[in-house]
Amino acid sequence: MTPYFPDGCPETAPPGWPTDTPYERPHFVTICPACIQSWRGDFFVSDPVHVPDGVPILLAFPWSAEIAAASLIP
Ligand SMILES: [Zn+2]
Repeated sequence: MTPYFPDGCPETAPPGWPTDTPYERPHFVTICPACIQSWRGDFFVSDPVHVPDGVPILLAFPWSAEIAAASLIP
């Protein structure tokens, strides 16, 4: 899932950006009206989904296989 910014991808990491995810430059890991068509060249991009205020900017769900492998590491 990639955050959509209707007013344009921000120049720097927006408030709430995850500290473990680098924000290298605009349009690189975010989508806005100016770059959505270029994203659609390489990825399946749906119409933006609006979520209520307070929802984290990114949600990540680890694969169950990763969780199982991590629990095997002493
Ligand atoms: Zn953009």
